[in-house]
This record gives sequence, C-alpha cells and structure tokens, in this order.
Amino acid sequence: MAVLIKGKDLSTKIVEKIRHEVLNYDKKPTLVVIIVGNNPASQIYVSKKKHTAELTGFNSRVIELEESISQKDLEKQIEILNQDKNVNGILVQIPLPKHINTYNIIEKILPEKDVDGFHPINIGRLAIGLKPYAVSCTPQGIIKLLEENNIEIEGKHAVIIGRSNIVGKPLSYLLLNRNATVTVCHSKTKNLSDVCSQADILVAAVGIPKFVKSEWVKEGAIVIDVGINRMENNKLIGDIDFEEVEKKAGYITPVPGGVGPMTIAMLLSNTLELFKLQNKLEA
Ligand code: NAD
Repeated sequence: MAVLIKGKDLSTKIVEKIRHEVLNYDKKPTLVVIIVGNNPASQIYVSKKKHTAELTGFNSRVIELEESISQKDLEKQIEILNQDKNVNGILVQIPLPKHINTYNIIEKILPEKDVDGFHPINIGRLAIGLKPYAVSCTPQGIIKLLEENNIEIEGKHAVIIGRSNIVGKPLSYLLLNRNATVTVCHSKTKNLSDVCSQADILVAAVGIPKFVKSEWVKEGAIVIDVGINRMENNKLIGDIDFEEVEKKAGYITPVPGGVGPMTIAMLLSNTLELFKLQNKLEA
C-alpha cells in the first residue's frame, strides 16, 4: 500500500510559518486578485485564496470585473495595480472570457508582481535555470511535496501527463533543473500507458476523472495527482484511479488534500517573497 503524501498537512505547516513571519513586519504583504465574469469554479478558488491570505495576516483584495470588460480596460486595471506601491502581488484568475487575449493580459503584469509566475520572463527564467521572481504555484507545490517526503528527483524518470502552461510545462522545467529525465505527454501522445509504465515519478494533470489506471503504473512509483474534477454529487475526484493505484504505487497524493492545498500555500509564499523583494527586506 502506498504512502500517502499529505499536502494538507504540509500546506498548513507552511502557511503557519508564513503567518509568524508576517507578524515581524510593520507592513502586511498585499495580494490583489482580479476576477472577470461569473465562472462559479473561479469564484470558489478566488474566495478561498482571499480567505487564506487574510487568515495568514495579508491584505487581500478581490477586484470583480464585468464579463464584458474590454481588453484595453482590463489592461488599464493591471497598469494601476502595477503602479501601486502598496500592491505586492497581482493575480488574474483564469480562464478569462473568450474575447480577452490571456497572454497579453499576463504580459501586462509586472514580472516582479506576477505571483502566479506565468509571465514570459518568469517562465523563461525558469526554463533556462535562472531564479524567476515567482515560480508557478502548483508545480512548485509538487516539488515541495517530493522534497518533504525525501523523494530523490535526480536521475529519476518523471512522466508528466499534461502540457499546460500552468502545470505541465513549468513542472517539466523544475524537474529537469533537478536532473530528472522528463517526458511530457499530452492528448496526441501515442502509447500513453506504455510511457507511463516507465515512470519513477508519474504526474497526472489532465482533467479527466480516474484517467490513470493501475496497469499504467510501475510497482513502487511516486504518483502525483493534480486533477480536480467535480462530480455530479459534488465530490472531488482526481485524474488517478486512486483506490487501485494506491495498492501498487510507493507514494501517492490524495484528492482532495494533496496538491490542491499546496497551490494556495505557494501563492502565499510567492506573495511574501515578492513583498520582501519590493521592500528590500531580507529574502
Ligand atoms: P489543461 O486543460 O490546460 O491541460 C490538460 C492537458 O491534458 C493538456 O495538455 C492535454 O493535452 C492533456 N490531455 C487531455 N486529454 C488527454 C488524453 N486523453 N491523453 C493525454 N493527455 C491529455 O488543464 P490544466 O489547467 O493543466 O489542469 C489539469 C487538471 O489539473 C484539471 O483537473 C485542473 O482542475 C487541475 N488543476 C489543479 C490544480 C491544483 O491546485 N491542484 C491547479 C491547476 C490545475
């Protein structure tokens, strides 16, 4: 039976540590989240981020904008936050409405205020092995989970299913920078189950419930489930067939309580680091 990697426990520890550190400063780190339109999932994520930020002693503000906002007006809003010395981190919740060019919006955020680490400068620095202002939260959370459980990355074959800009690609850079051999799979990958069965570390970031079957998993593999799929009964299910895979894997993350809470912890950690950088406090 696999060892359960409890992201919830580690995230609580990290958030508590941040809360204590923030008590030492005269000013509080400030995170601003922009949400456009009424996507119910986005609203839940944003209110969770705001709530945890406040519990941790941060200032947190949500700017709610109409679905119909123009590209230009959204960019203007970001410009105002870029100029505001009291704002340390800016996060634009995605997905954005179809008429908005998401890449142009992300590029508008100052790289040193880009708490999500999605700006091309931050992704680019990560890709070439330089320190970005911020590293994308979910991939960074996964690395912390591996490190906390003393799981060696160097020399391992890591297979990532999913090549999104927010999970798969940045995670591939983080693992490569730690000397893993990395294979990134996607919807056009042939013989996916064969590729997965070679993985020492298998990460699923697909968005299909129970997509990864136990026959795809090597005995003793480390299995990380990024997927969050809300079922009709409101239950959250990951991309891994947890009940079967946990009998074969060496380590496994649950859903919920695995990667998800780490994402929020890393968001707060990034906000704190950007705050310290902008205020020339010791990083
Ligand atoms: P996305 O839709 O941007 O990307 C999905 C990826 O899966 C794509 O690269 C696609 O090529 C690949 N894919 C789709 N069908 C496939 C198939 N049949 N075979 C192989 N690959 C296939 O998704 P995303 O934003 O990266 O999110 C993925 C999942 O992770 C979602 O369930 C999302 O809710 C979840 N997520 C969780 C967190 C967290 O904090 N835990 C953060 C971000 C995303």
